Amino acid sequence: MEQVNTYDLVIGLEVHIQLGTLRKVFAPEGFSFGEAPNSQVSEVTMAHPGSLPIPNMECIYRVAKLGLALGCEIAAETRFARKNYFYPDLPKGYQLSQAENPICMGGELPFILPDGTQGAVALERIHMEEDAGKLIHDQHATASMVDLNRAGTGLAELVTRPELHSPEAAAACFASIQQLVRYLGVGEGDMEKGMLRCDANVSLKPAGAAKLGTRVEVKNLNSFNFLQAAIRFEAKRQAELLRSGELVQQETRTFNPSSGTTAPMRDKETAADYRYFPDPDLQPIRLGKEKLASLKAEIPSLPLERLKQYREEYGMAHAKAVAIISEKTESDYFEGLIASGCTPKAAANWLLGPVREFLKEQKQEITSFPLDSVQLTRFINLVEQRTITREAAMGEIWPRLLAKPDVDPRALAENLGLMARTDTSELEQAMKELVDQFPNEVARYRKGKKGLKGFFVGELMKKFGKKADPKTVSSMVIKVLEEKN
Ligand code: ADP
Ligand code: MG
Repeated sequence: MEQVNTYDLVIGLEVHIQLGTLRKVFAPEGFSFGEAPNSQVSEVTMAHPGSLPIPNMECIYRVAKLGLALGCEIAAETRFARKNYFYPDLPKGYQLSQAENPICMGGELPFILPDGTQGAVALERIHMEEDAGKLIHDQHATASMVDLNRAGTGLAELVTRPELHSPEAAAACFASIQQLVRYLGVGEGDMEKGMLRCDANVSLKPAGAAKLGTRVEVKNLNSFNFLQAAIRFEAKRQAELLRSGELVQQETRTFNPSSGTTAPMRDKETAADYRYFPDPDLQPIRLGKEKLASLKAEIPSLPLERLKQYREEYGMAHAKAVAIISEKTESDYFEGLIASGCTPKAAANWLLGPVREFLKEQKQEITSFPLDSVQLTRFINLVEQRTITREAAMGEIWPRLLAKPDVDPRALAENLGLMARTDTSELEQAMKELVDQFPNEVARYRKGKKGLKGFFVGELMKKFGKKADPKTVSSMVIKVLEEKN
């Protein structure tokens, strides 16, 4: 637990996850980021008289799937409530949310800390709600504009217990949610597009005390760095207040990224102000056992399971395994390489090396990488088995293969005359000629100037070019030089 001048730091997160379904959660229209303002708004979203909500079951299934992946208890019957408040981004005057009977209760979210250790935080609940629209303040000198496109899109809100104790743990928890959302395909989790946002509740208590202190809620943090900076600032601010004998006000604050500070936003409504009540237009929704079983069956193996498998079964270094599991698509591709007969070690090195380099250059994702895993394995194995040298592979074959992904890499190597010389007698002969040609160097080597090995390797490589495998050349040089004659 992180201590700030004899106080324990206590953090609980509320994370909003945009569900990314084709249509909004209770309205017929879809939503995609960046469209013209108010171009994705129906009568339901505008709250025209007589319009009724039509639940999008896909949103509910996605929240349930998230809960199943985190070991939550899934409600047999879930209900929606009206959370009443007035704000121009919400024409109905209430937000459809859940108070009692959320879809998911309990559960636990695992995460990996930067030092490689694993942590976890208990969850209070995951419920579903609709998002509000957006106010735009910079388009008019004296007025704010309203864009309702986002209003009514489905959100999952995941609420952790107040059991995180450092900014790093909070960020790792947030990162783990993003990764999970992408693994499960319940959303895109793109923070820059507002698809993933986090509120941080922060409080301090005297070290070791059981009772939690008064919390401050910092709203709408949309990056790992902002989350950590906001927590750090709050911890310091609250510690100073407490040390000088003042009280921390329970309030909602915003984080200002340019100054790295937080400032009060509005007085926190208490739950009673929202006058939550069950929405009379919506029936309770039941999730049958069969549906839950089929949702569960759709859950792929999750990041931490993969991490464990890669570490234990493949003997992979922690950092490499973490890098490969970071995106599901890459991890899937990696597993495809192994299934095609590539060794895990070669698969990891090629994926994190040349493949990533190519993707970065081309600004592409692995899903549009030209070679499928079977084809890449063919190529990798030619190199690993030294049928072609690494130099020939990277210099000649790799670019050709990427440009024409269907060509057989072996045939390509043969046509280009790049099959490695495995004929060691030819190498040996050439090395013996070098020994005769450079008697002084040989003598110096034999007296202990071992560095001269490199000179002979270089000479030999000049003769054979890319067709010779440097490792074979190197051992041949040693063999001949060490020979007593
Ligand atoms: P609200 O919706 O009013 O913000 P909750 O009571 O559900 O309400 O709390 C939300 C979040 O606040 C949870 O993530 C919880 O872990 C966290 N939290 C509650 N009490 C504290 C506290 N004393 N210090 C830090 N976080 C807290
Ligand atoms: Mg809150």
